[in-house]
Amino acid sequence: MPLTSPIEADLIEVFSSIQGEGVLIGCRQVFVRFADCNLNCAYCDTPFHAGAEFAVETAPGSGRSRQRANPADLQALEETLQEWQAEAPGLHHSLCLTGGEPLLHADILAQWLPSVSAKWPIYLETNGTLPRELAKILPWVTWVSMDLKTDETTGQPTDWTAHAEFIKAAGQKLCHVKLVIGEQTSIAHVRQAAEFVGAQQAGCPLILQPCMAKGKITVNGATLLELQAAASAIYPETRLVPQVHPLLEIA
Ligand code: SF4
Repeated sequence: MPLTSPIEADLIEVFSSIQGEGVLIGCRQVFVRFADCNLNCAYCDTPFHAGAEFAVETAPGSGRSRQRANPADLQALEETLQEWQAEAPGLHHSLCLTGGEPLLHADILAQWLPSVSAKWPIYLETNGTLPRELAKILPWVTWVSMDLKTDETTGQPTDWTAHAEFIKAAGQKLCHVKLVIGEQTSIAHVRQAAEFVGAQQAGCPLILQPCMAKGKITVNGATLLELQAAASAIYPETRLVPQVHPLLEIA
C-alpha cells in the first residue's frame, strides 16, 4: 500500500512556447493545459475534454510529442520539467497553468504546487469565476491572468459576483484582467468592464484583446481605437493588446 495518494489530474497537453497574451507577452513558458471547464463560451476554440491520454513535448519547443496516460501523474511530470530545466537553463520564465479551467483541479494543485512552485514561478490563466478554488492555491501563484467572461462575448449570463470576489483575491498577487472584444462589442460594454475593474482592483491592468481568426485580427482598427478610448476614459489602466502567438505562427 502506498503511504500517500498519487497526485493526479486529467491533462490535455504539456508544451513549451511563448506567452502570447497579457502582461507577460513574449515570455517563454511551459504550458500545462488541464482538462475540463465550468463554462461553455460561444467562441471557445480550446480543446478541453479529457481523453485517455495527454501529449507531452519530447523536448521544449520541438513540436513533437509523446502520449502519456490520463490521469497524469503530476509528480512524474515535475521530474520531466526538471529535466527540461537542466537541459535548457534559463530558457523558461515561468510555468503556466491553463485549460480549460485549471481551478477545477484546485484540490490537486494545492498538493502539487508547494513542490513545483519552489522551482517554477507559477502563472495562472483562469476564467475568473471560481474564487473559492483560487483561495486554495493562491499562496503558490505569482501571476493571475483572469478573463472577464461577460454575456456579450460568451453568450452566457455574466457572474459579476464571482468575478468581483475573484479579482479582489487575485489582487493580492500580480494580476491583470482580459476582455475579448469583437466587431460587435459595444461602447457600453467596455465602459462597464472598465468601471468594474477600476472599482474592484484599482491599478490592475485591463487588457482589451481583439478577436482573431486564421491568424488575423477580425476587428477594424478604428473600432479598436474607439473601444480603447471609451474604456481608458473611465479606467486609464486599459491597454489594447492582441494575441501574438497566431501572428508568429506558433502554438
Ligand atoms: S472559459 Fe475558456 S476553455 Fe472554458 S469554455 Fe470559455 S473559452 Fe473555452
